Amino acid sequence: MFTLQAILHSWSIRLILYIRLDIKKDNIMTNYEYDKFFELSLDMLCIAGADGYFKCVNSSFERIIGWTKEELLSQHFTNFIHPDDVTSSMKEMEKLNDKIPTLSFTNRYRCKNGQYKSLSWTAFPDPESHLLYAVAHDISELEELSALASTDFLTNLYNRTALTSRFDFNINLMSRIKRPLSVLMVDVDFFKKYNDSHGHLAGDEALKTIASLLTNSLRTTDVVARFGGEEFAIILPDTKEEDAIHMAERCQTAITNNNWIIEPVTVSIGVSTQVFSNSLTSTKDSETIRTDLLSKADQALYKAKENGRNCIIHFSNIDI
Ligand code: GH3
Ligand code: MG
Ligand code: MG
Repeated sequence: MFTLQAILHSWSIRLILYIRLDIKKDNIMTNYEYDKFFELSLDMLCIAGADGYFKCVNSSFERIIGWTKEELLSQHFTNFIHPDDVTSSMKEMEKLNDKIPTLSFTNRYRCKNGQYKSLSWTAFPDPESHLLYAVAHDISELEELSALASTDFLTNLYNRTALTSRFDFNINLMSRIKRPLSVLMVDVDFFKKYNDSHGHLAGDEALKTIASLLTNSLRTTDVVARFGGEEFAIILPDTKEEDAIHMAERCQTAITNNNWIIEPVTVSIGVSTQVFSNSLTSTKDSETIRTDLLSKADQALYKAKENGRNCIIHFSNIDI
């Protein structure tokens, strides 16, 4: 879909260039017609200088981000960009000035009302005029939808689909840098009883609390997901067996020590670890490793339940 978007953008740009050339060549297109075409586009069309100032923007800019043409033309473009996106945007601008076109680049623009919009850019440098011809497409809604599709509605954690893609990404990364990766499978103890005693809504609140306790106990690079029901899966990149057990203890302690008002809640945790000695060669490999790690963590969790619950077991410590 993104490729299609890029192709459409690139054609819009070619059309503008073509029309401009046409005007110069045989005056078939009048300036009036060219302006009409420019103004009627629902995408944000602009011409910018190598100095980082817009020379001309169409009315979609004002419709989408709220700033008037005068406001946009009077300031350097970085003044409208999210602070975290300024460096990457400046780099993209440098590439354009080196005559390398932008085929897909996204940054966030500050709207007049203070909100940010995600814009996907295609831009072409014109070696003759030293101007940049660019088209931006507002992908904010698309990004929101994609975030919704990967989020569990109750806990706001990643859902199982999002877990799978982040899992495979981390497996590939750890195999490339030859670092270990561990997985925690966390399951709430006697949760059916909790629901039966206090109601489903109280159960939902407990799950939300557990989700935030887990998130706060982990590093930002760890991935926490709701695996299903009252089970959570956690990916710990660059974490060997003993460190994974230590992380599991932190999670368990945070939950046990929480000030539970209705009734104390405990969890059991199964742990598994993969040590990489070679880089993976295919996506099939990462799928096999993911399935194996989850299965081992699940078997360890089963043992933890057998051992009386509220405990942590690593797969390497169970007799199969
Ligand atoms: P164990 O210690 O063996 O894990 O026992 P358990 O009762 O936790 O396990 P069991 O699989 O028997 O029951 C899981 C319960 O989790 C039953 C189900 O109602 C509850 N549950 C699953 N998803 C949700 C949810 O989204 N909200 C609420 N409130 N409860 C849920
Ligand atoms: Mg349970
Ligand atoms: Mg369960």
